[in-house]
Amino acid sequence: MLSQGRAPDFDVIVIGAGFAGVYLLHRLRTDGYRVRVIEAGSNVGGVWYWNTYPGARCDVESLQYSYSFDENIDREWQWSERYATQPEIQSYIEFVAERFDLKRDILFNTRVESAAFDSAQNLWTLQTGNDQSDDSQSVTARWVVMATGALSSSKMPEIDGKDDFAGTTFHTGHWPREGVDLAGKTVAVIGTGSSGIQAIPEIAKQAAKLLVFQRTPHFSVPAQNGPIPQEWREQWDRDRQALRTEILSTRSGVLYDYGQTSALSVSDDERQREYEERWAKGGTNFLYAYNDILRDEDANSTAADFVRQKIREIVKDPVTADRLTPIGYPIGAKRICVDTDFYATFNRPNVTLVSVLETPIERINETGIKTSDRQYDVDVLIFATGYDALTGSLTRIDIRGSDGRSLKEAWSAGPYTNLGLMTANFPNMFIVTGPGSPSVLSNMVVSIEHDANWIGDTLNHLRQIGATRIEATEASQQAWMDHVRELAEATLYYKGNSWYLGANVPGKPRVFMPYLGGVDVYQAKCAEVARNGYPGFIID
Ligand code: FAD
Repeated sequence: MLSQGRAPDFDVIVIGAGFAGVYLLHRLRTDGYRVRVIEAGSNVGGVWYWNTYPGARCDVESLQYSYSFDENIDREWQWSERYATQPEIQSYIEFVAERFDLKRDILFNTRVESAAFDSAQNLWTLQTGNDQSDDSQSVTARWVVMATGALSSSKMPEIDGKDDFAGTTFHTGHWPREGVDLAGKTVAVIGTGSSGIQAIPEIAKQAAKLLVFQRTPHFSVPAQNGPIPQEWREQWDRDRQALRTEILSTRSGVLYDYGQTSALSVSDDERQREYEERWAKGGTNFLYAYNDILRDEDANSTAADFVRQKIREIVKDPVTADRLTPIGYPIGAKRICVDTDFYATFNRPNVTLVSVLETPIERINETGIKTSDRQYDVDVLIFATGYDALTGSLTRIDIRGSDGRSLKEAWSAGPYTNLGLMTANFPNMFIVTGPGSPSVLSNMVVSIEHDANWIGDTLNHLRQIGATRIEATEASQQAWMDHVRELAEATLYYKGNSWYLGANVPGKPRVFMPYLGGVDVYQAKCAEVARNGYPGFIID
């Protein structure tokens, strides 16, 4: 325990060195804080460091899925494709880290295992560890920023016998850094969400045989990826500042072509034309063809039926096509996937789809997977089973607040935050893209820059007034989370049994976590709170 009044080791500790931690370090260091970033991986990059599976790409176009805070970087970096690959995004984040000489303040290969708040001194003590030794280090800071990632806590399925498998096995979010040779192998992929849908077409090209185990079919639209068209590049170079500003006035932090009319207000022919055009252009822009696709079930069905028809046209075997066709939930209510040849991959002779709704997996055993009707022997078993989203990377750390209670306990009925940025009884702890913020329902680089700037501005304000403590009030977070829920209830998002609701993790409370009011509205609300002297927060 520190003696009264002794200075903490650092002003700010940031946990995580993905897009968020990298920018936070630059921003807070520029503002004169002594900052240390602690990162479990051996490099910057976050999800782009960990997700080295074949086919990993962003699904927001790279020109927009990139930092805006430094115009020189924005000008110098040239993306090669509309949707950059994982290695290119990783190089980009490293390029930014090198430009600002950030790595000297990042402690790599180190995991924060616990964090406890000392109310007498208003500071955090963190215990860290690493995989190489049992040594645990202790470090203190006045402020802690959780840049631990909304999608960084990988989730394994609840299947008996996972440890019995004798072959190679891993999660897509922990793809072996040395690579895996799949040539000549029989490979099983469990899961067909965003990561599975990206990886499956690439794995199919490498493996002798690929078995895809699917529980829920997902809606996917084609990326239509390729080089960035010259006229887009020129427009971006010419109007960069105006376009970056325009991004901030959108609902999702992405410049889509947002349709202004109802899907039900136009003729069938016109609607079909519109969907065909968007399908041909590619990307999630498809979902924004009309303003009620995510609000009205009939409007939604028009878009869902269009994709279902596409699946039937692409997939030659009608039984496989049927199994791949999503039914029973609205398009967009589960995260829509963006693919390159996902559906067409099932026309390959070396690819088989196994519906675990029809033939459930009974267990994993030494040689492979046993379903209700047969044994599948495989050499490599890949889990593309997603993440304990938004809360997992936080609750996996033993975080103790001012009353000694853990965050896990405090959030046992679901996460509570004010603006997604702070939670009551955990003073001086900020969260980036936390539950209750637009987070995973936005262009996350846009949200990350916003949250980091709000945190930086708040710390500057506290420094100016000589405060050493800030925390969200219980009342403010109750009101905010009620608002988050009401917004979600007015949409179709509530009808998908999705990870937005925690539905993919057994026992996780069903609380809709991302804020759906729009990036533009959210950022205005956060600015208003700061401008009005932080109502909903106690400052001391
Ligand atoms: P992360 O990148 O998740 O980084 C968090 C870091 O914290 C990790 O490196 C982790 O090792 C570290 N960490 C966590 N806990 C600890 C601990 N206890 N101790 C030490 N270190 C810790 N979003 C989009 O907007 N558009 C996209 O196209 C898009 N594509 C994606 C594709 C994939 C495959 C995935 C998984 C996510 C994608 N996302 C996308 C969401 C993505 O999470 C964000 O865009 C963004 O990269 C998050 O950055 P971050 O810095 O907040 O978190």
